[in-house]
Formats: sequence, structure tokens, C-alpha cells
Amino acid sequence: MSAAPQRVLHVAAEIFPLLKTGGLADVVAALPPALAVLGHDVRVLLPGLPAIRDGIGPLKRLAECGPAFGAGRVSLFSGRMPDTGLPVLLLDAPFLYDRPGNPYVDGSGLGWSDNHRRFALLGWAAAQIGAGGLVEGWRPHIIHAHDWHAGLAAAYLAARPGPRPATVFTIHNLAFQGLFDASVFAELGLPPAQFGIDGLEFHRQVSFMKAGLAYSDHITTVSPTYAREIHDPAAAAGLEGLIRRRTASLSGILNGVDYAIWDPAHDPDIAQTYRSCPSPGKQACRAALRAEFGLAPNPGQALFCVVSRLSEQKGLDLVLAAVDRLIALDAQLVLLGSGDRALEEAFREAALRHPAQIAVRIGYDERLAHRIIAGADVILVPSRFEPCGLTQLYGLRYGTLPLVRRVGGLADTVVDATAAALADGSATGFAFETASPEALADTLQRAVAAWQQPKVWAGLCSSAMQASFSWDAAAARYHTLYLQLQT
Ligand code: ADP
Repeated sequence: MSAAPQRVLHVAAEIFPLLKTGGLADVVAALPPALAVLGHDVRVLLPGLPAIRDGIGPLKRLAECGPAFGAGRVSLFSGRMPDTGLPVLLLDAPFLYDRPGNPYVDGSGLGWSDNHRRFALLGWAAAQIGAGGLVEGWRPHIIHAHDWHAGLAAAYLAARPGPRPATVFTIHNLAFQGLFDASVFAELGLPPAQFGIDGLEFHRQVSFMKAGLAYSDHITTVSPTYAREIHDPAAAAGLEGLIRRRTASLSGILNGVDYAIWDPAHDPDIAQTYRSCPSPGKQACRAALRAEFGLAPNPGQALFCVVSRLSEQKGLDLVLAAVDRLIALDAQLVLLGSGDRALEEAFREAALRHPAQIAVRIGYDERLAHRIIAGADVILVPSRFEPCGLTQLYGLRYGTLPLVRRVGGLADTVVDATAAALADGSATGFAFETASPEALADTLQRAVAAWQQPKVWAGLCSSAMQASFSWDAAAARYHTLYLQLQT
């Protein structure tokens, strides 16, 4: 196995802090720099969406690609990320990308009608770069594509004759597959044979996710437990057959946390920095959070929080159904989230009914997420499924103990406070099995009982804050994988 550095092209649709709809953006911002530290020459190919284009600068024109996928003009620029200096390749195609807001859906929440072209272009450009075109003097050894948005990269490469880079495809969430009507296949410029059961056809539809799974040399997903779970129909959304066939080339590599951004010891967004819990700093954050949200300033009440997309996946309907138990436990809840309209409305109503104990902010606010995670005692992540999950990892570092459903990456990162785990000092939070309001409510009760015992709580917080999920560990595993793929 050679230890030579590799030229690696990551391909993704979003990147923190320029454009983020979820954990994918955090990963795309943090993993490539961690790989660069290991000696790799890493660049990230991104679509020229306004928030990304305007955040990267100065831009240098590298190539004109000519018209493609209905785009009048496609150009490739190079630039660097503002904070990390990470090299970026920006695909400029105003006709397809010059639209502000969410990268995937229009103002009414529906997928853009030309999403197949917008993301086919991303995969196509990655393949061109992989084949040695477009970026003079830089031909990647590895193309690492993220989620369905970049799924076609491997299909375009597979369709080309001659040598090609090795391909890695990372599943961040199998529930979002990039499915399109079969009629769009003719526009993609792929060989007809690829529209079949062994290719990217999924029940007479075109699946960009399936393209990534079928044509990549190796597949990763973002936690070992999720990697196992997606072999079963319950978690695989219809793709379990293909996942099982590819099992020898599939691995789970746990995401990391960017501790340069998520660490209470130097977080510029929180009321007071802190290094331990309980501590005056943590107390100040808690008091500031209560004041900001108009909650009763009662230090005798445990303070729970949620920072999440509001969706079926995240299990927040269970929190709603357990609200009465939470109130009866004399606890408080702060929620920041947006998404499903019915959930947004139901949480607003709960806050109106219990203004001293429940406060809700509907929206997306990165800095507020820091203040909430620093100020709360417990962060709730009761997901129905969770490929990795990042907020429980942030909670651990902030001494805000995660209360999670034991599933996917949540199962891999949180140690339930059982008697045995408390005794040996390994406990870092609370976990439950069944996705039911009763199971959640019982666990809320366990958390409050632990919180009422200062020594127990201090031990839990200390173990949680010491747990480390740095990107170095994940990058080392991708590094090994890249080298294996080169042999
Ligand atoms: P997913 O990608 O499935 O939404 P993750 O836990 O992997 O879930 O990542 C979610 C990311 O988005 C985290 O960085 C979290 O802090 C952030 N986030 C989610 N909702 C909000 C919100 N309403 N405001 C600010 N940040 C949010």
C-alpha cells in the first residue's frame, strides 16, 4: 500500500458556512481540510449557487465547458473558502444555478423542475475533471461524491473508456434519493444500458442515489450502525437489494465535529465561555438562554432543547406527544427548528399553552443554535432514523447531555446512563429504544432524576465533555480507504 498523497476531488451541493441545509454542509467544510492535513491535495467541486459563488473569492476562470444540460454557458472557476483556505472549483451555470435560497427546492417547497439537469451537470463536470479535462495539470486520483446531488459522477465516469479515477460515494441520508421521471434519462447523455436494474433505474424512475451506489468503487456512510441498518428494508427505502449486493464495498465511517467551531471554551457566540460543567460559564449561558426566550428564570428546572429540521425523521412528534409529561416533570424546553408546517404550528401552540416552560423559535439560525446548545442541560434527538447526527455530538462537547433514540449514529456516539455505565464512568447521556411517546417520556424522567443529583450530573457532564469525535479520526479512515483504492 502506497502512502503517497492523493489528489482528491470532493463533489457536493452545499458547504458550511456559505450554504447549509443540514449536516452535509458541515461535513463538506471539515473533512477535506482534515484530509489536507494528512498530505492529500484536496479540492471541492461545488455548484455556483449565489451564496456559494458570492462567498468564495477572488475567483479565477479555469475553463469554458460550452453549453450543457440546457445551460447557456457553463464555466469553471477556482477560488478558496474564506476561513479555511480550502481550494474550491466552482461550476458557474447561471441558467441552472443563479437562484437564491434553498439549493433543492423553490419558494413553495417543491423540488426545482430542472433539478435533474442542475445536478447532472455537477456529476458530469466531476467526471470531466476526473478524466483530465477542465483543470489543466490537475487530474484527481479519487473522486469522492456526496449524496444524490453528486451521484451521477460515478455513472459518467463508468460510461467513459480508458483509465479513470477511483470513486467513493458517501450516503449522508438514504431517504433523499434524487428520483426523477424516466423521461429525463434521455437528457442525461448516459448510455441507454445504464437505465436498467443494475444501473440507475429505480421502479421506472431515474435515481441519482442509485447511480452513486451502483457505479462507485466504494460506498461509505456516516456511521457504522447506519451502515448495518441500511441492509434492512426498514431503513433502506427500497435500496436494500443493491446495498446487500455491494456490502463488501460498503463501510461506515463516523462523522467528526469541527471543534474550531463547536467548543464552549472559545465559542464567540455564547454568553460566557466554559471548559467544564457545572461551572459559572455554563450557568451564565443557561441564564442568558432563559432570558432570551422569556422562560421562567428558575434554576430549579431542568432545561431541555431541540435544534433540528422539523420532520418525520427527527421524531419530534414524539416530543410533542410527551409535552404534558415534560410539564409535569417541571422541566423547560427551548426549540429551534423549521420544516414540516404542522409540526411548526403544534410547537408554537405548545409554547402558547406553557409560556413559562416552553419557548419556540421557528427558523434557521446558526448562531442561535450555539446559544441554545450552550445554555441547555439536555439536547433531545429522538430520531426515527439517523445516519450520524451532529447535534448530539455538539451537545456532548457543551456538557448538554444528549437524550437520543438508540439508532444509527446516535447509537454509536451516546452511552446511556445505565447503572453499570454510571458506575464505570462511561455514561454520556440517555438513550431509549422504541419510537413511542411513553419511551421518550420515561427517558425524560430518568434525565430529570439524574439532573436532580448534582454529583451524578457532574460525572455525566465530565465524561460527555471529554468524549472526542474529532475529524482527525474520520480523516484517517478515509485516508486508508483512498490508499486501498489506489492499489
Ligand atoms: P440533518 O443533516 O439530518 O438535518 P444533522 O444532525 O446531521 O441532521 O445536522 C444538522 C445540522 O444543521 C447541525 O449542524 C445543526 O446544528 C443544524 N441545524 C438544524 N436545524 C437548525 C436550525 N433551525 N437552526 C440552526 N441550525 C440548525
